[in-house]
Amino acid sequence: MGSVDERMKKELELYIHIPFCMKKCEYCDFLSFRADEHTQHAYVEALLREIAYYGEKCREYTVTSVYIGGGTPSWLDEELMSGIMSAVRSHFSLSPEAEISIECNPGTVTDGKFAAYRRAGINRISIGLQSADERELRLLGRIHTYGQFLKTYELARRNGFTNINIDLMNSLPGQTAESFSHTLRQIIRLKPEHISVYSLIIEEGTPFYVRYQEDAKRQSAGEPTAALPTEEEVLRTTRLTEELLSDAGYEQYEISNFAKPGYACRHNIGYWQRANYLGLGIGAASLMENIRYTNVSDLYKYLEKTVHIKEELRQTAAPGSGDVANQAACRQSAQVIPMTNLHETAERIPRKAQMEEFMFLGLRMTDGVSRERFAQNFGIEIEAVYQEVMQSLKEEGLLAKRAGQIFLTKRGQEVSNYVLAQFLL
Ligand code: SF4
Repeated sequence: MGSVDERMKKELELYIHIPFCMKKCEYCDFLSFRADEHTQHAYVEALLREIAYYGEKCREYTVTSVYIGGGTPSWLDEELMSGIMSAVRSHFSLSPEAEISIECNPGTVTDGKFAAYRRAGINRISIGLQSADERELRLLGRIHTYGQFLKTYELARRNGFTNINIDLMNSLPGQTAESFSHTLRQIIRLKPEHISVYSLIIEEGTPFYVRYQEDAKRQSAGEPTAALPTEEEVLRTTRLTEELLSDAGYEQYEISNFAKPGYACRHNIGYWQRANYLGLGIGAASLMENIRYTNVSDLYKYLEKTVHIKEELRQTAAPGSGDVANQAACRQSAQVIPMTNLHETAERIPRKAQMEEFMFLGLRMTDGVSRERFAQNFGIEIEAVYQEVMQSLKEEGLLAKRAGQIFLTKRGQEVSNYVLAQFLL
């Protein structure tokens, strides 16, 4: 690093998908499944081929963050994970300051694995806990107890990790603001650097959907339901969460994310700011220079296609795929990131949709969006596109402006789905 050429490189975030879980949780619709050791090895070999291929194609980029997600990446053998990280280092130009995160589930990590992660340069651990209540953990179908989580957390600290996130989930069946605050208080005592709190969503195709779909419909219509907390209860939980975390020194930097000063997740911020990111592995999505690609989601197709990664000038089921201009634009992009046989879809994002994404994603952050950045990206003032919407949201007390930033007020955050929908063009 340090030469002029290195300094002129553009920034890139890497996402690496590990789709394996010991058991499927009851609410989960992520691309994840159980697999034997042989399949895990074959998958990592395929990943190494993809890493080598795109490392070559991304020479003009410096990787500023790596996020290894899933699935349960910590279920993989430590040698496999070390192999993935050394391939990233040898094929990409990885910034020495890069944030490198791995998702870990309690019950799948050992002392040896944490030590291997440290040696591989991983510097951020994200632990999926969801709840400190044993009844809730069983209901969610998690493989671990709260006690196992505590051991995992201590192991991570003992191995020298100083940047740890804990994932929690609210809006669970039978949960109240008080019962969730019990989970939160236990976690605050551990002093992790980062806490994420997402609301349970009842997703189609999951056991929870079979059990709770009627309750979910009633909940979103504002009606009382037997199983899920009412909208008012969820709001009370959100307010209590913000209060407890703020009192404990956490800054809310995004609707669902809280961090001690200096520990906001750089990878996620890049995603909300629409940075270039390259997704590797099955089903992984990439956004490169405003073209969105999605990898094939079928494991066996992925294993087979990575053996001979071929550049392809084709369009598949992406919206606008029949559009000649869109195809031409995607072909041009082949100069940087070629479409390959690994891609299921590739779509150039139209300018209007880019603006919408800029607003939807950016307004999730408490700092909001920058007027200057909007003008730089689109060559037009934000007011020229959104003046009317912004004015009316301001009058409703949902949006505010300060020092060139436009952001949601507290009330705006509470009804963020409504507010963000107003930015559709
Ligand atoms: S551990 Fe995570 S990815 Fe795996 S099944 Fe559970 S929620 Fe889904």
